Amino acid sequence: MTCDLCGSPVKEQMVTYTIQLGDKLVVVEHVPAKVCIQCGERLYSPDTVERLQKTVWEQRSPARMLQTPVFDFAAK
Ligand SMILES: [Zn+2]
Repeated sequence: MTCDLCGSPVKEQMVTYTIQLGDKLVVVEHVPAKVCIQCGERLYSPDTVERLQKTVWEQRSPARMLQTPVFDFAAK
């Protein structure tokens, strides 16, 4: 299997998936993905995408909470 973007081989590994919902950043750890060894593009299986969406939208009981410093790269 190869990367959609650059055609390099992909490697199965666990990644940390993050998504911003309004003012909240949701982090899902240990998500299985195929990661391109060249450009880092991540490919998720349809099952994984479905579970991710469920996890993110339900947010029932997170395993732990993170404190996240936010920097503005464009700020002077
Ligand atoms: Zn790639």
